[in-house]
Amino acid sequence: PGSNPDPNIQIAFDYPALRQQTERANATLVSLVRNKELKQMVRTVKNYEDRFNHKFRYDWVFLNDEPFDDDFIETMTNLVSGKAKFGLVPKEHWSVPSWVDKEKADKARKAMAEQVIYGDSESYRHMCRFNSGFFFHHPLMQEYRYYWRVEPETAIHCDVNYDIFQFMQTNNKTYGFTITLLENPLTVASLWQETKAYTKAHPEVLAKDNLLNWLSYDKGENYNMCHFWSNFEVADMDFWRSEAYQKYFDHLDKSGGFFYERWGDAPVHSIAAALFLPKSEVHFFNDIGYTHPPFTHCPIDGDTRKEGKCSCLAEETFDWKPCSCLGRYLDVQRIKRPHDWENYSD
Ligand code: GDP
Ligand code: MN
Repeated sequence: PGSNPDPNIQIAFDYPALRQQTERANATLVSLVRNKELKQMVRTVKNYEDRFNHKFRYDWVFLNDEPFDDDFIETMTNLVSGKAKFGLVPKEHWSVPSWVDKEKADKARKAMAEQVIYGDSESYRHMCRFNSGFFFHHPLMQEYRYYWRVEPETAIHCDVNYDIFQFMQTNNKTYGFTITLLENPLTVASLWQETKAYTKAHPEVLAKDNLLNWLSYDKGENYNMCHFWSNFEVADMDFWRSEAYQKYFDHLDKSGGFFYERWGDAPVHSIAAALFLPKSEVHFFNDIGYTHPPFTHCPIDGDTRKEGKCSCLAEETFDWKPCSCLGRYLDVQRIKRPHDWENYSD
């Protein structure tokens, strides 16, 4: 390991042989994860390596609000085919900002404990805020443009035989997802109001041909709770680093909703992608079967499952269940729903 002057870079091994490799995109896999999740992370990393990454040897950045222990670093370094890098989240990206009223935030957490999953957790709120506004500023992420976000306990069920990052770049895609669903309204009570305040003040950020109608049943008056499930994300960090998004995040952050409510990074990323990007830049990765418990996406069409040697069943797919927003998404994109989708709706 080289010596790093940056205190938030724990270890970044250097592999000269990998630097020679060309024709890859400027991209990395990235996981925010805790030491205690090592066991789940081992299975997940091995699975992503076998199904995708061993063919391309992209780097993998591991981030943590606490230092990774030696066991974690050694185990992951052994598994990853690209460079494995380990970073610490800077304190200022994982603490309650000065303008947030801590007492009000404490009360809000207590009030939410019963009805909302993670309602009483402060660390969950730091995680959501970090993923919304800061991960792409981490010193280890600076050199990359595209990323694939990977969480412990997730799995992909199909071979990905093409370079997913080059696909994004070549096809001018900015945000890719596999599952879209409805959020619990209690977590985002004022998120839409704050979003409208921002877009009213900065109408120039709205893309002309956007996905507003996927987010709203009434042309933007109200939010319908549809969002992309951000535990799977393949995206272009140039977007998060853009002025339109940075100012949006700052506006949201100043309102305190990450702490007074429990805004997820999923609705925040989704709303921004749906409003600030032309809809052609958003991509549904139907070909990648994927599970984050308790939901699975599996391609229902047999040729796609065959092509990817998928180990999931069509009947497992969440896509056509009542809480899924995929049908609405495809309709707004004017993409034909797959043959037989009605058979997978209950
Ligand atoms: P869920 O998917 O919404 O149920 O939330 P998770 O518990 O899976 O958290 C989302 C991601 O953030 C996962 O990759 C976790 O490993 C990570 N994460 C959540 N809380 C923390 C934390 O306090 N510290 C660190 N380092 N990672 C966290
Ligand atoms: Mn998770």
